[in-house]
Amino acid sequence: MLRLRFPPATFMLWSKLFIPTLRENPAEAEVASHQLLLRAGYIRQLAAGIYNYLFLAQRSLLKIQQIVREEMDAIGGQEMLLPGLNPAEVWQESGRWDVMGDNLFKLKDRFDRDLCLGMTHEEVMTVIARGELRSYKQLPQIWYQIQTKFRDEPRPKSGLLRVRQFIMKDSYTFDMDQAGLDAAYDKHYHAYRRIFDRCGLEYSAVEAHSGAMGGSQSHEFMVASDAGEDFIAVCKCGYAANLEKAVSVASAPLKADPEGDLAPEEFHTPGRKTIAEVAEFTGLPETSQIKSLVLVADGKPMLVLLRGDHQLSETKFSAYSGDPEFRPAHPQEIQDWFGAAAGSLGPVGVKNLAVVADNALKGRRNMIAGANKDDYHLRHVTPGEDFQAEFQDLRQVAAGDGCINCGDPLQVRKTVEIGHIFKLGYKYSESMGLRVLNEEGKEVTPIMGSYGIGIERILCAAIELYHDKDGMILPRSIAPFEVVVTPANYNDAAQAEAARSIYEACKARGLDALLDDRDERPGVKFKDADLIGIPYRIVIGKKLASGMVEFVERKTRKSVDVPVAEAAAAVPK
Ligand SMILES: [Zn+2]
Repeated sequence: MLRLRFPPATFMLWSKLFIPTLRENPAEAEVASHQLLLRAGYIRQLAAGIYNYLFLAQRSLLKIQQIVREEMDAIGGQEMLLPGLNPAEVWQESGRWDVMGDNLFKLKDRFDRDLCLGMTHEEVMTVIARGELRSYKQLPQIWYQIQTKFRDEPRPKSGLLRVRQFIMKDSYTFDMDQAGLDAAYDKHYHAYRRIFDRCGLEYSAVEAHSGAMGGSQSHEFMVASDAGEDFIAVCKCGYAANLEKAVSVASAPLKADPEGDLAPEEFHTPGRKTIAEVAEFTGLPETSQIKSLVLVADGKPMLVLLRGDHQLSETKFSAYSGDPEFRPAHPQEIQDWFGAAAGSLGPVGVKNLAVVADNALKGRRNMIAGANKDDYHLRHVTPGEDFQAEFQDLRQVAAGDGCINCGDPLQVRKTVEIGHIFKLGYKYSESMGLRVLNEEGKEVTPIMGSYGIGIERILCAAIELYHDKDGMILPRSIAPFEVVVTPANYNDAAQAEAARSIYEACKARGLDALLDDRDERPGVKFKDADLIGIPYRIVIGKKLASGMVEFVERKTRKSVDVPVAEAAAAVPK
C-alpha cells in the first residue's frame, strides 16, 4: 500500500515540536472529534467556523489528501487548482448566485464589482471547458482539485464538522453522452470506496437526492455517528438511502380501520387543532387521522394529505411539484380558500384545489379529517370515496417502516457525510453554453458529473468512529505518526541511546516515527501518545537491562516485550 512519507532528514523530537495538548476536554466542545482535536493540539479556533490547523492536523490532512490524490490519478483524474475568488458573472450565468442565497460568501472589489468565494467549482470548470474543448476527440475529461472552499454557514458548530472554510477534493467530468457519464460516475464510485477503505473508515454509500446541485442520480458516502446531522434509513438487507429520499412500505395502522361504507359524519372538537390533541380527544391513534397541509407551489395552492403520524419529505414534494421554492400557505390564504383555520382542514368537499395524498393513505377506510369548519372534524372519511386525490410517495420514512426491498423494519441513523457524487446532466453545460463537435461535425452539449470529498470530514469521522476516553485511535494511514518511541527516562544514557537506535531503525523501515525525548514523567508521555492517537508505541524502560523493550498497540492496548534489535520490526508492515 502506498503511504505518504515525510523526508527522513532529521529526528522528529517531541520536545522540539508544537503539540499543545490540554489536560481537560474544552467546555465549548460537544462532539468527540471537536473535543479531541482541541485537546490533542491538532486545531485552534480563530473565529466561529474558522480554524487553524496546527502541526498534527496538517500532517494527518496531508496524508488524507495524498490518498485522495493517488486514487483520483488512478482513474485518470487530472489535478488542477482553481481560484477560490470568483467573479459574480459566472455564478449568475448558472443561476446559483441567487439560488445559494446567503450561504455564498459575496464581496465587492475596489471597483465595486461583485465577487464571491467559491463553495464548489462547476461554473469555473465549465468556463474552462467551453473556452478550450472543441471536439469529441478531446472527451472524456476528468478534472479535479484539492482546494479551500467557503460557505457562510449560519450556525457553525461541532468543530470541523460544520465550518465556514474547509478543504474539498472536487472533480468534474465531461462526456459525450449518458453512457460516458455512467462510466465516469462508476469510476468515481469505486475510487471513493478505495479512498475511504484506505483511510480506515466504516461507511455506507446511500442513494441521495442532489438538491440544489441539479441532476439526477447521486450517492452519498456516510459514516454512522451521533455527531452527524444527516439521517439515513438502513435495512439489514443492504438497502440504504438518505432519509429525504428513502422509500418504504407504510407500517400498519396502530388500530384497524372501522369496517363498512360509513358516511362522513361531523363532530365537535372544541379547541383541538393538532393531530395529538385530536387523538387524545377521540381516543383513536394518530395513524387513524389524515393530516392536511396547504402548500403553494409555482404560485398554485395544493392540499397535501399525509397519515397523522407521518411527516412530509420536502425533497419528495419539491420533486413532485417541480418547485423547490414551494412554501406553506399563509393563515389568511387558508382562511380564504377553506373558510376555516389550519387546525380544522380536510379534503372532503374541496373543489378548486389540487389534492395529493401520500401512498400510505391508499386503501384506508373511515379515518378522521378536519371538516373545513373551525372546531369540527369528520369521522368515517374514506380516501377515493369521500374525496379524490392523486397518490404519491411524499412522506419522510420513519424508523420501523417496512423496507421497500424486503419488508423488514427500517432503522434510522444519524450520519456524517464524507463524500457525495452526482450525475449533473446538462444543467451547467446547457446554461453556460458548452458545445463540442461530434463525429458528424454537429454541435452537441457534453454531459457533466460532479464529485466531492470533505477532507476534514474524513479526519473527524475517523475520530468519531475510533476513540476512547483517553483520546483518538486513528487508522494508521491517516495518523500524523505511525509509531512513537518513548524512553521512560531520556536522561538515562542507555535508554536515550536505545531510543535513538530504535527510532533510526523505524525510519530505515520507512515508518513515520516520533521520538518522545521530553523531560516528563512516563505517565505524562503515555497519556499524550494515547491522546494524539499514534497507532504504535515502543517503550524503553527498566527491562532494557535485560535487552528488552515494550511494544504497545494503541487500539487494543496489547503489549509485548521484544528485544531492542527487533523493536522496529514489531511494527506491522
Ligand atoms: Zn430490506
